Amino acid sequence: MSKQTALDLLDRKAEFFYSVGDSIWDHPETDYTEEQSSAILMRALEQEGFTVRSGLDGIPTAFSGTYGSGAPVIGILGEFDALPGLSQKAGIARPEPLTEGGNGHGCGHNLLGTGSLAAAVAVKEYLKESGRPGTVIYFGCPAEEGGSAKAFLAKDGVFDQVDVALSWHPNQFNGVWAFSSLANVRVHYAFQGISAHAASSPHLGRSALDALELMNMGVQFLREHIIPEARVHYAITNTGGDAPNVVQAEAESVYLIRAPKNSQVKEICERINQIARGAAMMTGTQVAIHLEKGCSNILVNHTLEEILYRNMKDIGTPQYTQEEYDFAREIQDTIQGRVKLADQLEKSFGEKGRQLGTEYDKYSINRFILPYAPSSKSISGSSDVGDVSWVCPTSQIVAATCAGGTAEHSWQMVAQGKSSVAHKGLLYAGKVLAAAAIDLLEDPELVKAAKAEFRERVGGEGGYQPLLPPDAKPSMPQSPMTAK
Ligand SMILES: [Zn+2]
Ligand SMILES: [Zn+2]
Repeated sequence: MSKQTALDLLDRKAEFFYSVGDSIWDHPETDYTEEQSSAILMRALEQEGFTVRSGLDGIPTAFSGTYGSGAPVIGILGEFDALPGLSQKAGIARPEPLTEGGNGHGCGHNLLGTGSLAAAVAVKEYLKESGRPGTVIYFGCPAEEGGSAKAFLAKDGVFDQVDVALSWHPNQFNGVWAFSSLANVRVHYAFQGISAHAASSPHLGRSALDALELMNMGVQFLREHIIPEARVHYAITNTGGDAPNVVQAEAESVYLIRAPKNSQVKEICERINQIARGAAMMTGTQVAIHLEKGCSNILVNHTLEEILYRNMKDIGTPQYTQEEYDFAREIQDTIQGRVKLADQLEKSFGEKGRQLGTEYDKYSINRFILPYAPSSKSISGSSDVGDVSWVCPTSQIVAATCAGGTAEHSWQMVAQGKSSVAHKGLLYAGKVLAAAAIDLLEDPELVKAAKAEFRERVGGEGGYQPLLPPDAKPSMPQSPMTAK
């Protein structure tokens, strides 16, 4: 079977993949509670002849689907979790929740999981028909948004058998993800004091809220003395109550600490922990510090990026109808402060970007492929794909699934999540990942080169040092499934 025949198969099965993507959109689930979404994908894998294993690494909604035998082992990463509070009706260009306060697929993971499924299916067909040695494993990775499940899976060795991992993310652009991301940790601080009547016996009280405020103040001063690329954000999750006449016996906050490298995150986190301990000491309270999750920065692999980029160009981006452009324009009209495409692309690609932006600004969907500009610099966000990239050569693409200018985590992204543009994007991504995987299966030298580059990068950074302690387990909400 040729590569082309395997890709053509995806066109024939397109409606099946669209229905899987829509059905995950219809069941938006967050943070380790993705019971229906994971079941939809596992059912699809079983139907396609994969051997499915659920409950990977003790996480009920993590799973894998395996086909084939022998080397190389190609891992394809899929996500399927939604975001809280982003419920939105599909196919309309105005904010209108489907369920008040409900979840929504604001990061397009319904498409991510399904595009990756399509890739795995095409690779499976190729292996089956060609009789070549090789294994394809679809990894169903839950809780990307709030739980960084892949960091737990990577630390615990789930990807150790994988020779090369590929993934993608829905986006407003088509291109290869040829840059790093920020490593981060999420740390929970719980202060415990002594409650007392705030007027009659304040001297007997020890305020946890005072401690929390002092901690935040200490961190504000710290900001001046950390590397400028670092980011420190916080939320107060428990103020200890709403009665000012009671000394608050408890107060809690959660911090998200980001920096380009794991070692920098570890160092800043330890300084923040010291500030928290200092605040507790100042107020006569106690503090319990809990590292909830962490994810590493992405280690780029230019060998894989080049293979992906070549296939992106060979396959060619989808064509759109006037109707699709019109709806995308309606969506664009709702995006406040949308920057001109030329200005946006100039930032990343200089004059070449400005020219590209000027040429394509008249289209409401970004139908071009971004120039390939390999770099080791970090973008300002984080992704739990980072940890996978430290245990095996890993690379990703982005594919356009929405109107140009659509932000991730927005109602506009949710509104477009079942559109024909989104469907075309997921199929395109599936084809590109499959084509790259088939190249790797056909030419062992490519796998060797990707692994050599990987070893060099990991070695150059002093090896993989996960941010999570070896025995760390994800904090999973008590759902009927996880309570088992
Ligand atoms: Zn997201
Ligand atoms: Zn995402």
